[in-house]
Amino acid sequence: MNVEQVAALYWQLLLAVGEDPEREGLRGTPKRVARWWQEFIDHDPGRTDTAFEEDLVADTDRIVVVRGIIAWSLCEHHLMPMKLELLIGYRPCGSVLGLSKFARIVSAHTHRLQLQERIVDGVATDIAKATGSADVGVVADGEHLCMSMRGVRQDQARTLSHNFSGAFADGGAPGNQLLAIAARTELR
Ligand SMILES: [Zn+2]
Repeated sequence: MNVEQVAALYWQLLLAVGEDPEREGLRGTPKRVARWWQEFIDHDPGRTDTAFEEDLVADTDRIVVVRGIIAWSLCEHHLMPMKLELLIGYRPCGSVLGLSKFARIVSAHTHRLQLQERIVDGVATDIAKATGSADVGVVADGEHLCMSMRGVRQDQARTLSHNFSGAFADGGAPGNQLLAIAARTELR
């Protein structure tokens, strides 16, 4: 990312919205915001592909559910923040993903201009890859500032989206359980 160019564009933006970019409170703003963009875009989530081998009975019905993963991203339609709470479920088939990997996989998809649905799809794909499981369910409960702040205030509006595969798909019990858990989930 070109920090100098982004800072120069924010200087122009302040001017274009009728502000004085040279006034006391705004003098450092273009550079500060450009550095924020750099941190956001150049974020390194670390390794997301390691899983622990574990001897599991092949026909186990065990489902692992991780809830309460909070992530922030930027909506690509309005360049405004969205806050997501994610719920991830999968049926382990020989390997179990370390807990920190879930957060890393999520952050690998949130540190760019995004759509909630694309984040959910990308996280589901990566969880399936990392665990080798064909049974993966991801639900996201999102608050979008582009909705909360604009026009008629929709402070309570939430967007729920999901990506289900294998045992979670087709309206089966595991998928419905995940949706039921997600419906009780409140953004903190
Ligand atoms: Zn938006």
